[in-house]
Amino acid sequence: MDMNKIRADFPILSREVYGKPLVYLDNGATVQKPKCMVDAMADEYFTVNANVHRGVHYLSQQATELHEAARMTVCNHINAASINEVIFTKGTTESINLVAFSFGEAFLSQGDEVIISEMEHHSNIVPWQLLAERKGIVLKVVPITDSGELCMDSYKEMLSSKTKLVSITHVSNVLGTVNPVKDIIKAAHDLDIPVLLDGAQSVPHMKVDVQDLDVDFYVFSAHKAYGPTGLGVLYGKEKWLDRMPPYQGGGEMIKSVSFEKTTFNELPFKFEAGTPDFVGTTGFAAALDYMNAIGMHEIEAHERELTIYAMNQLAQVEDIRFFGVAENKTSVISFLVGDIHHFDMGTLLDRLGIAVRTGHHCAQPLMNRLGIEGTVRASFGMYNTKEEVDILVKGIDRVKSMF
Ligand code: PLP
Repeated sequence: MDMNKIRADFPILSREVYGKPLVYLDNGATVQKPKCMVDAMADEYFTVNANVHRGVHYLSQQATELHEAARMTVCNHINAASINEVIFTKGTTESINLVAFSFGEAFLSQGDEVIISEMEHHSNIVPWQLLAERKGIVLKVVPITDSGELCMDSYKEMLSSKTKLVSITHVSNVLGTVNPVKDIIKAAHDLDIPVLLDGAQSVPHMKVDVQDLDVDFYVFSAHKAYGPTGLGVLYGKEKWLDRMPPYQGGGEMIKSVSFEKTTFNELPFKFEAGTPDFVGTTGFAAALDYMNAIGMHEIEAHERELTIYAMNQLAQVEDIRFFGVAENKTSVISFLVGDIHHFDMGTLLDRLGIAVRTGHHCAQPLMNRLGIEGTVRASFGMYNTKEEVDILVKGIDRVKSMF
């Protein structure tokens, strides 16, 4: 990977904060944007802008073509079998809420079980709790080991005829653990149980092939994968989506409406009520093209090497404690140093130009499991370098010396 060229594609990386070069290590929260992605959106606003799907005029048709071409780009990127299986949403959170609501309506009733894990983001906990309140389903939680890996034996023991869905993260946003998703899916499928994977922290970092995984639902956010904010994807196997009722009502998702009876549009539009973010989808397609031009395998290899390098360098900091030391780990490192509060560490690193995240990372149950309130989290994107890791390590030493 030509790091100088890649970094030059992200204009924000050359700015300074507090007179220091920006070292952006908060990529788990959102990544910076390549110029080509923003250009694609600006170009569409300035030359094509018109509402999609409904217009007979030239611009509307062109905008529709761009929007549907973007769906095809997403479809190819994750190797979905059909564009009918690619639903545009507002993000990972909305995608999970959609499944919880709609799959819940169609397939879940009192006493049925949904399996999640101890390392889930709130987005993959709360929608199921809301469903539990509405429908009386039971949430089962797979525990994790001290190194931050799923207890696969406990998981397998939890699976039963009562289990109606498994919903687990592909990569933990706190621990960086890459879960053994093929094993998770195989064990569930052996009992005909469908699986949802939260791909918010995997799609930006590795090649994802939904057919190879044989996963039933796969969800992710564009803004974490070099695309725009406010856009996400729900991949779902057609056999499920076909049988699930609409999530929201409105324009686009209908075939015909009368006061007596409304019929619904076919997939994928059945789940896309209202005007979609058709400019955002063009931007996301440009972002995916950009990632593919660099190569998903190259991005993954670079970030894995960087993660190992960072773990080794950080390990030399006296009194550092890591949270998440799984063998299969990528791009996310959570830690605490001595008794320095994570918030103090983050604030002081910020003054040195280093952006890290502090707090519970929307994973309070995981924090409870770890017996802490929060961590400092450094998370990498494709443009991060070993030099930046060195700056982080020096920064931590400097903060330490202040206490
Ligand atoms: N799931 C995981 C693992 C995440 O890391 C995040 C965001 O940090 C989400 C879900 C929620 O994503 P969004 O806020 O884009 O909907």
